[in-house]
Amino acid sequence: MATTTDYDAPREQTTDEDSLEELQERRASQTSQTLDGDDGDPTQYPVVDIELLDEELTVDVVPMQLDEFRCDGCFLVRHRAQRAAPDRAVCIDCC
Ligand SMILES: [Zn+2]
Repeated sequence: MATTTDYDAPREQTTDEDSLEELQERRASQTSQTLDGDDGDPTQYPVVDIELLDEELTVDVVPMQLDEFRCDGCFLVRHRAQRAAPDRAVCIDCC
């Protein structure tokens, strides 16, 4: 009775390669379709991303203060008064 599992079965590898190629082909066709659409309508040109980047750059970045901590639950910087416990970096909203 041979009950060993054939981990070296070549079928799975072949399947992965096939699906990867399919994905790449689909991506390529989608990209060309999008480019064609942009060519036909210049007002649809994707400048939104650049505008969003500009907005982010104009926001003042304030470094974390000594009386603040970063909550491990919501990853927001909170005042230490909102800390659930002194030995835990978790705010009162997340505890
Ligand atoms: Zn929190």
